[in-house]
Amino acid sequence: MRNMKILLLQPGYYDFATGNLIKKRHKKGLCPTFVLPYLASLMPKNAEITLVDETIQDIDFTQQYDFVGISVKTPQAVRAYEIAHIFRNKNTPVVMGGYHVSLCPGEAQEQCDAIIIGEAEYVWKDFLADFAMGLIKKRYVSDTRFDMHSMPFPRYDLLDWNAYSVFYGTKVPLETSRGCVHRCSFCSTPEVYKQGVRYRPVNEVVEDIKRIKKDCNYIKKPLFVFIDDNITANPNRACELFEALIPLGIRWSGYFTSESGFNSKLVKLAARSGCFCAFVGLESINSQSLESAHKEFNTVKNFTDIVKNFRDNRIIMAVGIILGFLEDTPVTFYETTDFLIRNSVPIAVLSPLYPFPGTPIYNSFVQKGIFDNPCFWLTKHNPHSLFRHDNLLNEGYTLEGLFDDSLAKLMSVKAIFKRTWPMKEFFVPLFIHNLALRYFLRKYGVFAFV
Ligand code: SF4
Repeated sequence: MRNMKILLLQPGYYDFATGNLIKKRHKKGLCPTFVLPYLASLMPKNAEITLVDETIQDIDFTQQYDFVGISVKTPQAVRAYEIAHIFRNKNTPVVMGGYHVSLCPGEAQEQCDAIIIGEAEYVWKDFLADFAMGLIKKRYVSDTRFDMHSMPFPRYDLLDWNAYSVFYGTKVPLETSRGCVHRCSFCSTPEVYKQGVRYRPVNEVVEDIKRIKKDCNYIKKPLFVFIDDNITANPNRACELFEALIPLGIRWSGYFTSESGFNSKLVKLAARSGCFCAFVGLESINSQSLESAHKEFNTVKNFTDIVKNFRDNRIIMAVGIILGFLEDTPVTFYETTDFLIRNSVPIAVLSPLYPFPGTPIYNSFVQKGIFDNPCFWLTKHNPHSLFRHDNLLNEGYTLEGLFDDSLAKLMSVKAIFKRTWPMKEFFVPLFIHNLALRYFLRKYGVFAFV
């Protein structure tokens, strides 16, 4: 019997500003997807598996596969449905999973042969067994949350690592926990994983890192990226993990909360364990916006000290900021860029508020009736704000106009210099990184980074 031929893919996406499909964008220095190699590890050992990340690779629609699996995030949904349509017209079954499918199962189900709702670990085998009998169901629902023990080792060997490698290393995604203790109103994590965090045993994480260093010689100079939603969700467990990383001599990055950035002991230990970059979702410097987003645990008056704490420990801080909460005013936009430049935040990721379906903020916007189109993700070209922002409109501004101004100010060469110079030992890569980010933001729009 011949081996099964499977295509697992992550779609490209349409740039809202231009309506163009973004494919083959340069991905050097960025982190590859964890989802595809991890899903591949759940497939039968003898299957012939192809992984395609459409943002950097073409999909070969002429190939015949036994089935196609598509992982869908909301900004990619419209492209995912197009791809599914092409394969289904060739009688190739398509199964979809991912955050968007869990949040909009009814919509996704219309577009493919089967959907996986929730976490894949326990239900893929049901899908594969049904597939083998030619009896796939429309829906596979994972009611049990994966306990994160004995996770299979991702099929990193199937990725094209040359596409991601740069002179200072290659980012390697790894998961050590899943979920978050918080419930921010704009975040889809609590809706998909429900509240609470599950942790991998620390010794299993250590074993995976040793295996990558020893066996995956196709990955040059690995820089580990812990994709956990919040690696510091439990400070005691974070300390246990960081202690265990020290003897490995690795360099890593991960998502911290602002509270943990205020914890000097934790940040020091992170630095000792090889943390070179911490992504922190400060989200807003407007306390009212933080409060309405249920993120009041971010205390604006502590932000300056948090930035300093990471810098003093020589950890590059990457700050996530969302602009366009309904409580924001034009002043919020000016004060935000001002804060980021004045405090020399070396990497700042600004995003306009993107209300993911199924989140509390999305539901409240539907109730308020402020969406032009509540299913905005199904539109390819949408250069204007996704929702009506009265605070800004009443003062004669638009969200997209203020956002573009903020980005231009933040990404001016002078501002980049001011933000990156204090991290002198990383100045050259940070300066180049920011210039590259500026180029990509102009060329591909902000959703290149969602
Ligand atoms: S802290 Fe981060 S991961 Fe957790 S709910 Fe808030 S935004 Fe989501």
